[in-house]
Formats: sequence, C-alpha cells, structure tokens
Amino acid sequence: MSMVSVDQVSFTFPVSGLKIMDSVSFTAEKGEFVSLMGPSGCGKSTLLRIIAGLIRPTAGKVMYLNRQIYGPTLGMSFVFQDFALLPWLTNLENIKLGLSLTTLTDEEKNEKAMELIDRFGLTGFEEYYPNALSGGMKQRVGIARAIASEPQVLLMDEPFSALDELTANTMRSDIMFMLQSKDISVNSVIMVTHNVEEAVELSDKIIILSGKPAHVKDARAVALKRPRNKRGREFIEIVDEVYATIAKE
Ligand code: ADP
Ligand code: MG
Repeated sequence: MSMVSVDQVSFTFPVSGLKIMDSVSFTAEKGEFVSLMGPSGCGKSTLLRIIAGLIRPTAGKVMYLNRQIYGPTLGMSFVFQDFALLPWLTNLENIKLGLSLTTLTDEEKNEKAMELIDRFGLTGFEEYYPNALSGGMKQRVGIARAIASEPQVLLMDEPFSALDELTANTMRSDIMFMLQSKDISVNSVIMVTHNVEEAVELSDKIIILSGKPAHVKDARAVALKRPRNKRGREFIEIVDEVYATIAKE
C-alpha cells in the first residue's frame, strides 16, 4: 500500500479557467523521500496543497493510506517555504499549534512541544518570538510544528530555499538524520524543490513536471547509498541527467 497516491490529478482555476495541471499521477511509498521538480509556475505548490487536502483537485484524486483525501488530515503535515510562523506567538506556542487538531490537554501539548524544542536545538528560545530567530531556527520551529502531531507524511514546499546555503546544508543533514531515527513518526516525505543537487542528495525518487499544464515528464529513482557524496562521480552524473530532463522540451 502506498503512503500517498496521486491519481490523475488535474487542476483548473475556477475563475480564470486556467488549466495548470493535467492528469498528474505518482506515488510516495513507505520509507520514500520524493522530490517534485518543474519550472517555476507549473503548479508544484498547488499540487502539494492538493495532496494536503487544502485544495480540491478539479479531476482525479489523492489517496492517503488507500483513503481518499477530502480535507486536511492529521496524518500529513505541511512545511512552508516562508516558515509561516505566527509572529505574535512564542516559539513554543507556534509548535503547539501543530497539536491543535489533537485531543491532548494543554499540559500534554506543552510537554510534547518542549520535547521538540529540545530535539530541534531550540532550548532557551521557547519563550522568544519567531522574530528573534535566524532563518534556520525559524524553519526548525516550522518543522517541529509539522512533526508535533506525529504525521506519517511530511509535505515540504521549498523548505530550505529561503535559507543561506550553509544553513540549508546543515538543515538537510539534520532532516535526513531525523528521518532515519527510529522514534520518528514520519515515513514518507514529498518535497517541492527547484534545487537539483538538493533533490539528488535527499530523494529516493524525483518526479519532474512539465510546464503548464503540468504533467509528469519523468520519474526517476535515485539509488545512491546514504550519506551521499556530492562530489562523487555517480552523484554528479545523476545531477546532470536531472538537469537535462528538466531542460528537455
Ligand atoms: P509553482 O509552485 O510551481 O511555482 P504554483 O502552484 O504556485 O506554481 O502556481 C501555479 C500557477 O498558477 C502559476 O502560474 C500562477 O501564476 C497561477 N495562479 C496562482 N493562483 C492563481 C489564481 N487564483 N488564478 C489563476 N492562476 C493562478
Ligand atoms: Mg511554489
């Protein structure tokens, strides 16, 4: 059984009638890290929102563990490019927001959020507001909030693209380390990225979408063992192939 199955999803904007997606299908299997790539404006963010149940597709369906998605589910969480933290809430309170759909008591939410503060290296910053944090730390809060409800699927929309390259690199390693740890609920990730090296570093599978209306132009496995050597010959070959596929008409 696939964790997520995107089945012939099409999307047309209701008012303008603009069709941006045409019969997109792919799956994310248990244990798989899937990257979605494609030209700017082709509908990647819209597709991720459709998967999250935030937008309804015009045609086709999304299945989460064999059940059709009609709205947001606790099993899938979203990480945003711009972090989407609420500036008037402390970092702890922002993380607790990720628990708002659960039945935990406030005390249990606090306890859980403090565990995540610790796990994400934010100790000492729990009572600060997001504005006091660097970009990397803000995204740690964003990821902690997403993980809090113990989702099985993590949906990330260009999660590292607002960070400087050094910070992004650290975050990528941290995320891989976190995903490999036994006590983590997440067992599939679908990430939108425009960064080919990032996709090859992190993914088991890369889905390349065409320009509007987007369809799946190529789906390729990345079988390199981890951790991946970005200077290795095989790594560079795959990066070149992915670039070529994206550029190809
Ligand atoms: P991506 O994440 O791949 O860059 P998006 O999913 O954000 O693409 O957007 C897909 C396309 O839909 C873009 O070309 C954008 O201009 C267009 N778009 C976004 N919102 C609307 C809307 N309300 N009506 C019509 N077109 C829209
Ligand atoms: Mg986008």
